Amino acid sequence: MTPSPEDIDARSLFARLPSVDRLLALPELQASQARHGLLALTEALRRLLEAARSEIREHARLPDWLDSPEHLAERIDAALAARQRVALAPVYNLSGTVLHTNLGRATLAEEAVVAVAAAMREPVALEYDLDSAGRGHRDRVIGELLSELTGAEAACVVNNNAAAVLILLSTVAAGREVVVSRGELVEIGGAFRMPDVMRQAGCRLVEVGATNRTHLKDYRQAIGPDTALLMKAHTSNYAIEGFTSSVAEAQLVGLAREHDLPVATDLGSGALIDLARYGLPAEPMPQQMIAAGVDLVSFSGDKLLGGPQAGLIIGRKVWIDRILQHPLKRALRCDKMTLAALEATLRLYLEPESLPERLPTLRKLTRTAAQMQALAERLRPVLADWTGDAAAVTIEPCLSQIGSGSLPVERLPSVALTLIPTDGRGATLEGLAERLRRLPTPVIGRLKDGRLWLDLRCLEDAAGFGAQLRS
Ligand SMILES: *Cc1c(COP(=O)(O)O)cnc(C)c1O
Repeated sequence: MTPSPEDIDARSLFARLPSVDRLLALPELQASQARHGLLALTEALRRLLEAARSEIREHARLPDWLDSPEHLAERIDAALAARQRVALAPVYNLSGTVLHTNLGRATLAEEAVVAVAAAMREPVALEYDLDSAGRGHRDRVIGELLSELTGAEAACVVNNNAAAVLILLSTVAAGREVVVSRGELVEIGGAFRMPDVMRQAGCRLVEVGATNRTHLKDYRQAIGPDTALLMKAHTSNYAIEGFTSSVAEAQLVGLAREHDLPVATDLGSGALIDLARYGLPAEPMPQQMIAAGVDLVSFSGDKLLGGPQAGLIIGRKVWIDRILQHPLKRALRCDKMTLAALEATLRLYLEPESLPERLPTLRKLTRTAAQMQALAERLRPVLADWTGDAAAVTIEPCLSQIGSGSLPVERLPSVALTLIPTDGRGATLEGLAERLRRLPTPVIGRLKDGRLWLDLRCLEDAAGFGAQLRS
């Protein structure tokens, strides 16, 4: 077959592309090589040449850098720098959800950040008892702190609360029956469904009651020779309202004692301080469960507690000791960074007066409308300058939510800056949202009712936020 004129054309263009070695010899690329190394530079040049070949194949066009080594050096430097940019980088969470799972839930206290950095940089006494120079246990310090804070006999920690429920059930009830109310068969974010976790733990689920009402006698009737555990789960991401009835932990404990059975409760979030003290809606507290006689209580580290991702289990020493011995514990154990962050966070709870200042989650939840209104008034002109005539910027009252399944029906009065695209200016809501997401520190808002809402409750670095809009 004779080649077509286009093929001949393309071949002559391919022939004009230099080799990697020739490009490597360019003096203009020496600075790049010094900065990023020969291997990375060679790879970047290969990728650039590959892109140039595609360009020739598809558009019969030579790359624009071909006759300009300075231009080539710029391109290569930009490409190499982009590969070093960390993708898991900070964003502004103005979504109105304080504990946003997709944005990493709780932001940590400075004390925790410092503790993590230290634990990363230097060896730490993770499983090393400094007094007797023997082997300590990695959960020991957290266990002592949690016992002090909650009154529990003992405590341990795993990677997240889903893992806590899994290991709790595997330890207490593998191969046996667990009695749970139908109204409490929770699903948290699709992958965590109580019935599935039960199956994974090798337990048989015995559902009692109806979705809206469960009575003590329902539990009583379900108890049999194979029953290992009475279990409750906090319906943290939904509320059953109206004609409802559930059995409180204290009542369930009474029944369990008659049958010599343990009671466990999965609190989900679990607040270690009484949120009502700060005018916030009350959330069940682990210490109340312990006081009610519950044998094992599990809750998350990165929800209302305001710490790192972790699953905390508190309760009777006999059960905690058995959980610590379970083979799953090794698979689910926390690393030193998590433990350092958790320890520093829990220590803040030993000095509760300063918690609303030092714990970011509580700081954000307790922000007043007046503070947010003042912030809104300061930032409105800056945002209006940035949008130009593409959008109208207004200050509006709004409602934030706590998120991560904590206090599902409660909303906190807040203040937002809202953007409405101006008719005929070509800006769309999605376009505005995207422009904000493309800023060096992306701004995440919420689209609702034809506006983009920027809820200011979680905006702590107002200066940085304003500066990036001005630049
Ligand atoms: C959030 C939640 C979980 C899962 O906790 P993670 O820490 O996200 O694994 C389990 N149970 C309840 C009731 C929850 O609210």
